[in-house]
Amino acid sequence: MSEPISREALMKTIENLTETNEQLSTDNDTLRIIISKSDIDCIYCGLPKKDMGKCAYGFPGCGRADDLLMEDTDGTEPEPAV
Ligand SMILES: [Zn+2]
Repeated sequence: MSEPISREALMKTIENLTETNEQLSTDNDTLRIIISKSDIDCIYCGLPKKDMGKCAYGFPGCGRADDLLMEDTDGTEPEPAV
């Protein structure tokens, strides 16, 4: 039988995973911002950048708008207006 995993080892693993998750989330947000500002067609609706105002999801509404709005914030998505 294998040895039981110590609480300390579990807590360290959780800590490491949390740290990794935060880093990946930050990297993901950075890439979303870069792509949203690039000339790449919208990854959500497929429209080219010049037509982003014609998006069927609206603008804001399309995910590209959310990605554009993420810049100059703390990286969290804006809360919906109440
Ligand atoms: Zn779009």
